Amino acid sequence: MSDLWRYPFLPDARKAVQGLELETLLNDPLYGEARALGLMRLETAVKDGRIVLETPADALAEKDHLHGFLISRLLLAVAGDASLTGLVAVAEGERTQHFLHREPGAELVRLARQLSVATTRANGGYTVNFVDYLRAAGSLREGKWKLVNRPLRDGHVRLSRRTLERLMREAVAQHLLTLPEPPEGIAKRFESEIEALLQVVRQRRERAVREMGKFDYGKAPPCLAQQLADLQGGINLPHPSRFFLTTFLAALGRDPEQIMELYATAPDFRESVTRYQVEHITGKSSGTEYDSPACDTLVSQGVCPGGNTLCREIRHPLQYYRVMAEREKPEAVRRKRIHLATGGGEAKFWTQLPLRFSGDVPQRSLTAALRSDAPSRVAVRVDHFRARREKRGDEFIISALARLVDDTVPTPLLTLSLTQWELALPLASAREAGVVVEVTLLPVKLGGAKRLHILAVG
Ligand code: SF4
Repeated sequence: MSDLWRYPFLPDARKAVQGLELETLLNDPLYGEARALGLMRLETAVKDGRIVLETPADALAEKDHLHGFLISRLLLAVAGDASLTGLVAVAEGERTQHFLHREPGAELVRLARQLSVATTRANGGYTVNFVDYLRAAGSLREGKWKLVNRPLRDGHVRLSRRTLERLMREAVAQHLLTLPEPPEGIAKRFESEIEALLQVVRQRRERAVREMGKFDYGKAPPCLAQQLADLQGGINLPHPSRFFLTTFLAALGRDPEQIMELYATAPDFRESVTRYQVEHITGKSSGTEYDSPACDTLVSQGVCPGGNTLCREIRHPLQYYRVMAEREKPEAVRRKRIHLATGGGEAKFWTQLPLRFSGDVPQRSLTAALRSDAPSRVAVRVDHFRARREKRGDEFIISALARLVDDTVPTPLLTLSLTQWELALPLASAREAGVVVEVTLLPVKLGGAKRLHILAVG
């Protein structure tokens, strides 16, 4: 058996299965396994984000894999949904990278060339023609992929093996965004399967928007706040800023009309031009939904006004917005996340941890607050502030810890982990500025030590 099943998109793999009538592939019981594999390819890509198929046992099973791949392409063509195609292309790219990682160097070079990435081995690494590099790396937004950040000699870019594998993954994903012409008759035959796939894509989209919480400019990263302030101040935004603003708001579920309303205050506002741009970028007229750029890109384009403490822990403005949605999570989830970030303590301690307070809270010194079993307002200095990003089980948490002090305590006291960044950010600013900040806090006992549970800041 060959290894064509690993790379079913390459010309050699296509040659191995050419000549079969479409009618036979779609309806002959002999190809039932191939059809099932084609569907499974799409289902696992869309549901799990990765394609998991068993290794074919023999040459016959390998052919089923190759036919299955063809079926998957036809189904995508018929579905005609850019998000579905994109999800599958990314999953196919990742699957390819997994196999490439095990290939000997000479084979890696051969496969790269088949993907139109002219590659040679050189001095323990690899070189790639710069035109092919630019084409393959074009959609990789991080600054390290920019040509100016790569060693370039005689029109060739030098890459490590790992980087070449990543580049080839991208080349595969891009290649698979181009679909064949949808053949007639197949739409009816696979109607329910295609609808089920599109349903999963819709659910994913809804979930992504839900995770962002309610639409709220209060969760906006500094870059978004800056563009909005400029618009309100009558400043014409340059193209990169408009692209960012439009893609960012579209990712949060804002429709083109709502986005258009924002631009209406711009001094150069022309409805027809703005509508064309917004509808093109959001995919309404173009069919392509552009991704919102990452921080790296926004920094290099001058759109980022300089981040704050939370910005240093994230790579994408949407991630910032998602982190700021912490307070919208159910209380049990928030307690669990504070517990995971802090560690220690009995289960009962965490399930009873208050997250809210009511009524007037008395102003106290830190010493008096430590003696009270009710919340107090205390004017403190932030002696120490530290942000952390950790994976705890299935949870990814960006949290902060601070040490607070006033003139009535001999040493600064540690807070519980702060997962709510509306509380953490003003503490970080107060620390940087060396100023006093008012907090509402409740002293709690954890692991034999007093800790400060912050309920509000400012
Ligand atoms: S670092 Fe990123 S999220 Fe923060 S302001 Fe800059 S671009 Fe926006």
